[in-house]
Amino acid sequence: MAKRFDVLVVGAGPTGLAAAQAAASHGAQVGLLDAQARPGGQVWRHDVRHQAPRAAREAFATLDNVTWLAQHSVVANEPQGLRVETPGGSELLGYNALILATGARERLLPFPGWTLPGVCGAGGAQALTKQGWPVAGKRVVVAGSGPLLLAAAATLRAHGARVLGIYEQASAATVRRFASQLLHWPARAAQAAALRARLAGVPYRCGSVVQRAHGEAQLQGVEVDGPRGTQRIDCDLLAVGYGLVPQVELAALLGCALQQTGKHPRVRVDGLLRTSVPGIFAAGEITGIGGLAVARIEGTMAGHAAAGFDQEAHALRAQRDKARGFAALLDTHFALDPRIHRLADARTIVCRCEDITLGELDGFGDARDAKLATRCGMGACQGRLCGSALAELGRFPRSGSRPPLFPARLATLAGHTSLSPSDDAYRGS
Ligand SMILES: Cc1cc2nc3c(=O)[nH]c(=O)nc-3n(C[C@H](O)[C@H](O)[C@H](O)COP(=O)(O)OP(=O)(O)OC[C@H]3O[C@@H](n4cnc5c(N)ncnc54)[C@H](O)[C@@H]3O)c2cc1C
Repeated sequence: MAKRFDVLVVGAGPTGLAAAQAAASHGAQVGLLDAQARPGGQVWRHDVRHQAPRAAREAFATLDNVTWLAQHSVVANEPQGLRVETPGGSELLGYNALILATGARERLLPFPGWTLPGVCGAGGAQALTKQGWPVAGKRVVVAGSGPLLLAAAATLRAHGARVLGIYEQASAATVRRFASQLLHWPARAAQAAALRARLAGVPYRCGSVVQRAHGEAQLQGVEVDGPRGTQRIDCDLLAVGYGLVPQVELAALLGCALQQTGKHPRVRVDGLLRTSVPGIFAAGEITGIGGLAVARIEGTMAGHAAAGFDQEAHALRAQRDKARGFAALLDTHFALDPRIHRLADARTIVCRCEDITLGELDGFGDARDAKLATRCGMGACQGRLCGSALAELGRFPRSGSRPPLFPARLATLAGHTSLSPSDDAYRGS
């Protein structure tokens, strides 16, 4: 028998927390679940050394009014509800209204050497560092594109890393134009200034792309192509990411219509954040990368609307549209330089889970054919990384979404609700 909620929220980042709080404020019985052990999502991820910002602590305090389900991963959809894997087994969770707040992941793009130990995503390095990965004294190069580079570099530095430089692919002229626009967004300007202050003394180089990582069994250095030619930088860690892509897999599995933004899909919603499936709402990064401010406003709107209070949701639309305007600014100014799409050569691994090179995918017209013949996209990440990378490189987009969304125990897939000690040894994907 499925546990049932008036409103069930998937994802406890800023969006999901705001949604749960808004829905609960109307007296709805709200369930909030997340695959992680703690709420906060990406931006408010627990930091072992530093206290969470005040807004995050205030949002966590509101969990008193909702059923908080930690380490609950939605892996499949069944007629009675969502199949959720838990540390002790699995559960079916039913709902009258569902809010999807599954956020975004990093856009990681292949280049020679990107699979060397010591190379990771910029947001990935930030997340690992917050969780206690020792970076003190390590020489770190941060590269890629967008404001996340500054946030990641600041976290790494706060944990004792020696940040050698931040290498932004957008040109200096474009970054200057972006900075001048910040005058219209005082809160963002203040945030950027605070980050730059925390990074005082760290070079910020524009028009620069890491084109190769060197090393045998471990990263030893990177080659950066910049306005003054190519430069070799010795380092222990490369944190490189090219912005974010919405995590739409669960929405797709539930049948919600998607729409394409550039090369990546997002969930299509109407003015009240209703998806194409009645009773299912989507908010925050999965409806288009928008950042923290959008996440919190849209979460609140979706919470009100899912609880049946459309007017309250409607009242926030102007505020949401303004916040979305800033997101559009990011899109225009941090659009990727075509150089980045040419970094991978035929020998560069694209599917890291199955060790498939770009050259091995030549001649395949769609993702399904490539998958059947090479196993590209069939590993633990289920095509999340290579699918986005291949779409970005203009090969083929990821095809559909199938259960399980994440590697899950066979017992979970068979619908067993409690776990016997031997079950954990068998994971299927
Ligand atoms: C790695 C990374 C680092 C970032 N760092 C910053 C930063 O420092 N500063 C900043 O301003 N912005 C940062 N961002 C941008 C960030 O995405 C937004 O600012 C904000 O966190 C978005 O909130 P959200 O609630 O929509 O999504 P998220 O914060 O991404 O939250 C989504 C949540 O959904 C959960 N989830 C997803 N699928 C499932 C499932 N099937 N079952 C159960 N749970 C699920 C995830 O575990 C996650 O906790 C970062 C993004 C990424 C990807």
